[in-house]
Amino acid sequence: MVKLLRINFQIFLIIFLFSNLYANSESKVKVFQNNVFIGEINTIQNKKLFSVNDFIEITKSNNFINYKTQKVVFYVDNKKIKISNQVTFIEIEDNLFQLSSKVTNKSGVYYLPTESFFGIIQNLSDSSSIKYTNNEIRFTSISTDKKIVKKNVDLRSEMEKWEFKTIVIDAGHGGKDPGAVGYRGTKEKDIALDVAKRLEKKLSKNMNIKIIMTRDEDVFLRLSERTKIANESNGNLFISIHTNAAEDRRASGFETFLIGPNKNEAAVRVAARENAVLELEGTTDKKLTNEDLIQATIAQSSFASKSEQFASMVQKEIKKRVQSRDRGVKQAGFYVLMGASMPNVLVELGFISNPSEEKKLRSPQYRDQLATAIYRAVEQYQKTL
Ligand SMILES: [Zn+2]
Repeated sequence: MVKLLRINFQIFLIIFLFSNLYANSESKVKVFQNNVFIGEINTIQNKKLFSVNDFIEITKSNNFINYKTQKVVFYVDNKKIKISNQVTFIEIEDNLFQLSSKVTNKSGVYYLPTESFFGIIQNLSDSSSIKYTNNEIRFTSISTDKKIVKKNVDLRSEMEKWEFKTIVIDAGHGGKDPGAVGYRGTKEKDIALDVAKRLEKKLSKNMNIKIIMTRDEDVFLRLSERTKIANESNGNLFISIHTNAAEDRRASGFETFLIGPNKNEAAVRVAARENAVLELEGTTDKKLTNEDLIQATIAQSSFASKSEQFASMVQKEIKKRVQSRDRGVKQAGFYVLMGASMPNVLVELGFISNPSEEKKLRSPQYRDQLATAIYRAVEQYQKTL
C-alpha cells in the first residue's frame, strides 16, 4: 500500500475503488437513515458478516442481550428480531427464518450473515423501508408520504432454490474421531469415507451435477463445519453417511434419518451417539433440547417433505440391493443436520457392532452396492423436482 500512494492519484483512486469492491476484513457497511449518513457497521469475512452490536448502536434500536443464554433481541424496520448464538435460524415476529450461516459471537460482538439477513428483512418489508445494496444499508424511519412500493417477489431466486445443481456428500467422523468401531476393529469413519467416495464417483460419472465433499480424506471436521460447507456451497441436497452401533450386537439393518423432535427411544440413542463428537470438539454446552429441535424442524419446514421423500428413496434402493434389515425412515435430533438450509438426510448404512454386518461392510462389493443405492436414489429424486 505504501508504494501505491506514490503512484498518481487517479491510479490510486481506481485501486482504492477496487479494494473496496473486494473488501478486506476491516471494511464497513455504511448506514443511511432518510438518506442521511448515520454511521458505519463493522463487518468480518469480506463483509459476509456484520456486527449486530454496531447495528443496534447506530440505529438506536431497542434491544435486549442475555449474556447467559447468548440470545439477542433487537428491532429492524419495527420488526422484533431474536437471534441465538451458534444457531442458523432467527426469529422475526415469532416466525422462524433460515440464515445462510449461523449467528456468531466474537468476544461479545454478535455477527449475522449480511446478505441473507437483509434479504429476509427486505422480503418481509411491505415498502422500500429498508434496503441493503452496494454495501450500504438505507432505511426510512418515518415516511410521511406513505408511498407503498409493490413488493418484488424474486421468482428467479425462488426457482433457483429448487434447481438441482449441487449435492453435498458428508462422510461422517474422521481424524481423531473414528466413530463406531466394530469387533474386528473396523472404523465407521473409514466405511463412511469409502462409500462417500464411491458415491461421488458414480454421481460425477453419470450426472451433470456439482459435488461437494465435506471431507475426502481422514481428517477431523466439526459437525457445524459440515453444515457450513453445505450452506456456503449453496447445496441442494445434503447426505451425511454413517454406520450404526448398538450395545446389543444382534441389532442390524440400515435406516435413514431426518431431523425432528425426539420421539423414538432407539432413534434418540442413535442421535446421541452421532452427536457425541461435540465433546471432542469441546462444544459440550450445545446439548440439543427438545425445544431447539422443534425450532430447527420448523426452520426446515420448507424442505422437510423433500428430505422425507429422498430418505424413503434411499431406503427403497438399499433394500433392493443388499441382504439387510430395512429399519425405515426415522427422525431424531442430529446436530449435523440442524441448520442445513437444503433437503438433508443422515444414512446409517448398517451396524458395525453386529459382527456379521461388520463383515459385510468390510467388503468393497457390499460398500459399492450401498453407494449405487444412494446414487440411484439421487437420480430418482432429481426426477421428482
Ligand atoms: Zn456416525
